[in-house]
Amino acid sequence: MHKFDIVIIGAGASGLMAASKYREKNVAIIDSNGKIAEKIKISGGGKCNVTNVNVNAQNYLGDSTFISEILNDFDQNKLLSFLKIRGCTPILKKEHQYFCKQSASEIINIFRDEIKSSTLFLNQSVLSITKQEYFIIQTDREIFEAKQVVVASGGLSYPKIGASAIAYDIAQSFGHNICKTSPALVGFTVQKDQFWMKELSGISMKVQCKVANKSFCQDLLFAHKGISGPVVLNTSLYWQKGLIEMDFLPNISLKKYLKNSNKLISSALPLPKRFIKVFLAHVKINDKPVSAMNDEEIQKLSILKNYAFAPAGNFGYSKAEVTRGGINTDEINSDTMMSKLVDNLYFIGECLDVTGELGGYNFQWAFSSAKKLTL
Ligand SMILES: Cc1cc2nc3c(=O)[nH]c(=O)nc-3n(C[C@H](O)[C@H](O)[C@H](O)COP(=O)(O)OP(=O)(O)OC[C@H]3O[C@@H](n4cnc5c(N)ncnc54)[C@H](O)[C@@H]3O)c2cc1C
Repeated sequence: MHKFDIVIIGAGASGLMAASKYREKNVAIIDSNGKIAEKIKISGGGKCNVTNVNVNAQNYLGDSTFISEILNDFDQNKLLSFLKIRGCTPILKKEHQYFCKQSASEIINIFRDEIKSSTLFLNQSVLSITKQEYFIIQTDREIFEAKQVVVASGGLSYPKIGASAIAYDIAQSFGHNICKTSPALVGFTVQKDQFWMKELSGISMKVQCKVANKSFCQDLLFAHKGISGPVVLNTSLYWQKGLIEMDFLPNISLKKYLKNSNKLISSALPLPKRFIKVFLAHVKINDKPVSAMNDEEIQKLSILKNYAFAPAGNFGYSKAEVTRGGINTDEINSDTMMSKLVDNLYFIGECLDVTGELGGYNFQWAFSSAKKLTL
């Protein structure tokens, strides 16, 4: 049996930051993957969108007081300086997002260095934890004993790179409650009435999308399975079921086209031609100038400004960037990240009921919650 003071479950974003914080201690990190930081590696198109210019609790689903208390201690500026001091200066790109200059390896290499004093156990999956005098951690290969355990094993998204339900299983086995989990930051499948969208596979255009009391104006990508792109991913975080509303002509009034004498497809509207063609067929109007349309046709055309529909579902955990829901944060001490139910058991990162929007918010959360650990 291996004996350590601290065992960290998960060598992802939050687990690595936790190990970096406690590198003077006797720490083991266990991960089911053969390499550390597999999600960081593929994130942000390989460049890791590590944080955002503006980060606050409103960018997250979850208890805003709990979230603020954690973000305030280690905010985006502290994260950026942490990286900069260690030789990585993320650059600002569109929509206030910070990405690595060349590749996500810039961040992974920092953590490789930071965790040198920890003992890494890769290619082994934690199966369960029990508590006697100390914690007993059973993996599929060995047994560990630890005085303190940090669960940093993330959510259910991207099972092909190691995601598992172990954080929820451990939490539940110690009496914690799990807020319902579901895939988020994920594309939508569409109902029959929206099958016209599937004909547009490959087209990307800026739209405004309203869901619950949130509104996003970003790119929509039509896909052969349904719809995706940043606007849909963000919308998916707040959508449970029911209608969402899309404005395909954000910041443009249809009124200014009322006297227009160009046919729609031949460029009267600033939209991709293929989109207009398919949309007109969907609402059953012929291609003609707006000035030649009757009231009923104008009414149908105006749906472009507030197209309301209910998605059928989403593309599932295999495509979702994150898991919405998780361990109930009422049961976690926000000063230490320790369970309020079990001494010396800690939960950080995505396994908690805190989920960020697209834009670097989820790594910020993973790193901030790890920094908040007080072991
Ligand atoms: C494709 C993709 C792109 C993304 N891009 C971004 C982005 O650009 N910006 C952003 O902010 N967020 C992004 N995210 C979200 C972000 O990656 C996560 O929110 C973040 O990694 C969560 O950190 P974590 O430490 O909680 O979990 P993870 O980073 O998922 O780490 C958990 C670790 O635990 C391990 N593990 C799981 N179960 C077990 C077990 N039973 N035994 C042992 N080990 C186990 C896993 O192998 C994994 O290494 C992206 C996610 C995906 C899937």
